[in-house]
Amino acid sequence: MLIETVDTLVVGAGQAGIAMSEHLVKAGVSHVVLERARIAEGWRTRRWDSLVANGPAWHDRFPGMTFKADPDAFVPKDGVAQYLEDYATMVDAPIRTGVDVTSVERIAGRAGFRVETSEGLIEAQNVVVATGAFQTAVIPPVIPAESGVNQIHSSQYRNPAELPEGSILVVGAGSSGVQIADELNRAGRDVYLSVGPHDRPPRTYRGRDFVWWLGVLGLWNMEKPTPGTEHVTIAVSGARGGETIDFRNLAEQGILLLGRTESCVDGELTFASDLKLNIQRGDENYLNLLRAADTFVEKNGLDLPEEPEAHVLEALPDCVQNPVLSLNLTDAGITTIIWATGYGVDYTWMKVDCFDENGRPIHQRGVGREPGIFFLGLPWQSRRGSSFIWGVWHDAKHIADSIATKAKYMEYDAQTRAASTDSGVKIRA
Ligand SMILES: Cc1cc2nc3c(=O)[nH]c(=O)nc-3n(C[C@H](O)[C@H](O)[C@H](O)COP(=O)(O)OP(=O)(O)OC[C@H]3O[C@@H](n4cnc5c(N)ncnc54)[C@H](O)[C@@H]3O)c2cc1C
Repeated sequence: MLIETVDTLVVGAGQAGIAMSEHLVKAGVSHVVLERARIAEGWRTRRWDSLVANGPAWHDRFPGMTFKADPDAFVPKDGVAQYLEDYATMVDAPIRTGVDVTSVERIAGRAGFRVETSEGLIEAQNVVVATGAFQTAVIPPVIPAESGVNQIHSSQYRNPAELPEGSILVVGAGSSGVQIADELNRAGRDVYLSVGPHDRPPRTYRGRDFVWWLGVLGLWNMEKPTPGTEHVTIAVSGARGGETIDFRNLAEQGILLLGRTESCVDGELTFASDLKLNIQRGDENYLNLLRAADTFVEKNGLDLPEEPEAHVLEALPDCVQNPVLSLNLTDAGITTIIWATGYGVDYTWMKVDCFDENGRPIHQRGVGREPGIFFLGLPWQSRRGSSFIWGVWHDAKHIADSIATKAKYMEYDAQTRAASTDSGVKIRA
């Protein structure tokens, strides 16, 4: 059987796979990128219709190309997909679309991996897994299927018109949850929003977007989440030009806020009594960033307009002061539940010794425990910025360097053997 050989095989052509290809081209490493669907498929089909980037165009991009948009604009998802496609063309990325990678295993007795794909076998010395951190929709097993309510994940939500009539419970108040709840409420639907622990940075402060503040304060470079905040989500939005998420406003506009969704028995939903605490902690996170920004302005003598009113928070709304702790699905008229509860990963197709007992990659800055296996696009891969377009670009550079360095070691071995053989010295294999 004819087996194609390649030095490095990259799996996935989202932003991570494209950035990887650019750096491999620069490092002179021959490679191929296999993508089961289309370039930037995640942005095309696994997001809701109205989604725009959470960061402004000047910031959420690769260093080598600007968006064809106002730098301060929040680019719609299709614009992001187009940008990534244009970028792949610009860097001449050798991407093959419509090719699914179904298994990767080490070749016994010699270097390299045997990779099964929907288009045949490939042997590769290195495999870079750039399949994204948002692979499988996670719906916690809280509400039994027999309850009859329509349950979807945020990745399946498209627009208000597609949902059956009735009230909607959105579970999760990260960027997806708050944006979807807000959109449904504006469309005239009755919305309940179940709020867990979250950060909520100001969209802008003293004339600068929060992404700028996180940059100058060095917070994108944090290497690990602060202990205890690993599951804290971030509530930001670029919708309608970008607005600070404040749960007071959402409540004022008619969304009923609830604590974490805990259980459902006989159609009776129960919620944790943590709503007030979650909102207060989110407020604290917001205020901390304002204070850090003020200190930075003062220390650096910057001429940025003061914004004392941003520090003044309104009183907590009644639904937070006196939270509803249980709801009957029928009485509340809830016909749809949208789980904005995040994503999981699935590496079961990789038959290599590189995963912990929970199936999570064991790696250092993306360099896998199994030599020759690399990961890219993991959250906190090297730092906070790792899962963003610009952050993944820097991580890709490190992986390309690691692959080129590994090749040098292998080359050294080959040269030594050649030199030794020439001089008549025998080397035992
Ligand atoms: C709702 C939402 C909004 C976001 N907004 C922003 C934002 O504004 N700015 C920002 O910087 N980031 C944002 N992100 C985060 C992140 O940038 C995106 O999720 C991005 O798509 C991740 O890129 P990736 O290349 O790591 O993964 P993906 O885009 O998921 O790409 C992985 C690719 O691998 C392919 N693939 C998977 N398995 C295989 C296989 N076995 N064989 C072949 N191909 C395979 C998939 O088809 C896919 O195309 C957002 C994320 C979400 C969920």
